[in-house]
Amino acid sequence: MVLGAVLLVALGLVGYNAAHQAIIRKRDERSQIVHELDIPRRSTESPTNTKSGSIYFVGNATVIIRYAGFTLLTDPNFLHKGDHVHLGYGLQAKRVTNPTIELEDLPPIDLVILSHMHDDHFDKLVQQKLDKAIPIITTGHAAKALKHMGFKHPYSLDTWQSAVIRKDGQQLRVTAMPGQHGPGIVSGVLPPVNGAMLTFETSGKAPFYRIYITGDTLIHDELARIPEQFPDIDLALLHLGGTRVLGMFVTMDARQGVRMLELVIPKEAIPIHYNDYDRFESPLTDFQKAVEKASLSHKMRYLKHGETYAFTPPANRQAGE
Ligand SMILES: [Zn+2]
Repeated sequence: MVLGAVLLVALGLVGYNAAHQAIIRKRDERSQIVHELDIPRRSTESPTNTKSGSIYFVGNATVIIRYAGFTLLTDPNFLHKGDHVHLGYGLQAKRVTNPTIELEDLPPIDLVILSHMHDDHFDKLVQQKLDKAIPIITTGHAAKALKHMGFKHPYSLDTWQSAVIRKDGQQLRVTAMPGQHGPGIVSGVLPPVNGAMLTFETSGKAPFYRIYITGDTLIHDELARIPEQFPDIDLALLHLGGTRVLGMFVTMDARQGVRMLELVIPKEAIPIHYNDYDRFESPLTDFQKAVEKASLSHKMRYLKHGETYAFTPPANRQAGE
């Protein structure tokens, strides 16, 4: 049943208007597709390119992913050096870096992927200034909070559920991956977290590029199901940093980051979320050493803030072939 409607979206950030048509359907449990969105191609956009894509690192867990005509923004955090974020229970963290692009200077964004509702992943500035019409795929917890903030199109996914987004003949499937933002019972007092599996595919054909974003998670048992379901991850974005709250790690440190690589076996991986706040205790150099020790350096693509990684899917997996 069609529950959605035609939505007029004003992408005010760039002074550009586009008609977004969001259609939400409930599907059978087996397929686990719980949302379907159709995003029209903007007349100002260049022709859809499936030969190569890019990851632009803004800072913290914020990246801009461009591929197959889609422009995605993850965990938008545009606060500046010296700004504070609140993590709940009176806990604060101070940003020690600047984003490499301002919120106002973002390109037109088709979709935001939000791992969880924490101020360092969806900050006060973003809550006020991000275009309220942009669809946001996230957890049930964060979707509810986003609605309260006035965002018009949050889409919630439970673990293993998917949303399918179509644009200009291309299809992106976003599947929620298990995340656990703290050890044992501590995770119960922290916001629920989704990892995200982004599968870029043409409708009905084999996947041709797959990106896994871990979200803020520790290594936990349910992660073992990821390589069973998705044995062919092209690129993993690892939320590292070894964030410590009340003496406990709540994001992966160097050792856990390596464990993640060994577990999900991506062809390539990019660490993000590692040096932007004063609560990060596991520096990137520790991770680099651990990766070398585990003989996994060949998989790593290290990005400084503001750098772009261009990827090229294998030719035999490009659209239309
Ligand atoms: Zn975080």
